[in-house]
Amino acid sequence: MPRRYVCLVVVVLLGACASPDRSPVMPSTNVVYYDLVQGGHPHVMYAPSSNRHAALPAGGPSSLDLVLHNGPVATQFATTAIYWGPQWGTNPFTGDKETGITSLLQGLNGSNFLTHLLEYYTFGLPTTDMTRTLTYQQSFTDHSTPPSGDLTNSPGTVGAEVCNVLSANHVTPGTAFYLVYSTTPVPGTVCGWHHFGSCGSTPIEYAYMLNMDNSPCASLVPQVGGHSIGLSGLANTTAHELAEMMTDPDASAWYAPSLGASGEISDLCGFTFHATSTTLSNGAVFGLQDLWSNEANDAGYGFAGPDGGQGCQPAPPSSHVVAWISGGPDPFQATLRQYCTWTASAASGTAPYTYAWRASGSNLLYTTGSGPTFIENSFSPVNYTLTLTVTDAHGQQYSLTRTVEVVSFPVGFCSTNP
Ligand SMILES: [Zn+2]
Repeated sequence: MPRRYVCLVVVVLLGACASPDRSPVMPSTNVVYYDLVQGGHPHVMYAPSSNRHAALPAGGPSSLDLVLHNGPVATQFATTAIYWGPQWGTNPFTGDKETGITSLLQGLNGSNFLTHLLEYYTFGLPTTDMTRTLTYQQSFTDHSTPPSGDLTNSPGTVGAEVCNVLSANHVTPGTAFYLVYSTTPVPGTVCGWHHFGSCGSTPIEYAYMLNMDNSPCASLVPQVGGHSIGLSGLANTTAHELAEMMTDPDASAWYAPSLGASGEISDLCGFTFHATSTTLSNGAVFGLQDLWSNEANDAGYGFAGPDGGQGCQPAPPSSHVVAWISGGPDPFQATLRQYCTWTASAASGTAPYTYAWRASGSNLLYTTGSGPTFIENSFSPVNYTLTLTVTDAHGQQYSLTRTVEVVSFPVGFCSTNP
């Protein structure tokens, strides 16, 4: 199997730019980790001060970074809500929670909250190109009484519920992240979890959110937007689980090996809020936790999470320009002496956008460029740094930096002609 280097994306807001000296992180195939899924257990979001990791792992802050294991990131970008329990359909479950969850799921689509996920999507992975699209499909209600407890020992119970509800409504499974909202109260410290399974032979990804009224899962979330505490907790847990389902759907893609399967993008910043509120694409406002950025951690411009480090980042403000780079199948490996093309995209802020590229390294044909695409040709097998800065019509800026590994064997998307 060829060695695959995972390179890194840095998101620098407002020009507060460092020039970090990054080495590529090579995912190890023989790390020892606590893969909860291997035991048939889902990935769990705990309330603070419960079953969390106490100390920074040996190896320092960088050992917290998410590493790409060999699994895929998500390949579908849609959500479906399933309301499970007898109280759904009566207030406040309908008037507050259900309308609020609908607003959350609609507003996440195209929101800057999803921007940080792009750091983990611009790799040569078996996935479609994620461009902040997360379409809300529909919701279903099942008034049967869900089992008591958090179901972490029997996640298939929830998977079967998803399959049954879809079947009863003649809906083809597998086209969305299925978010199951239970009327069962948080029984202890488990706020929610995500897991995967199948309906027949069709793989599905699903999450289970418990009723978190009167629990720390909700009371520790900033209460904004006029929402109840219970809805605020559900929204934060939903965002937490969705970010993990997208970057680590089968507990085999992005997680910190030092923390095992409980070190995913949201866990490393669990109950860490550095934005007082997050405004979504439909104007809905929620208190949503930070997400982990490897590059913020490595460059040291992020915030500490419950396990330490400096990788926690709030969502960029909804009005702020954001950008991402695509180019595949593997935009981080370039072939020696071939032309490689990267493409920039920008959103939010105010169009038109201008694009500035800079490549820093030895034996490069081009070192700067403008426009949404950039072509590079390297004459030596080195790593170089590729920086994109997007400026909107009002002068707001957003920058990303990548480390590109130039190898001497043919890879990916590079071509002999620009
Ligand atoms: Zn989690």
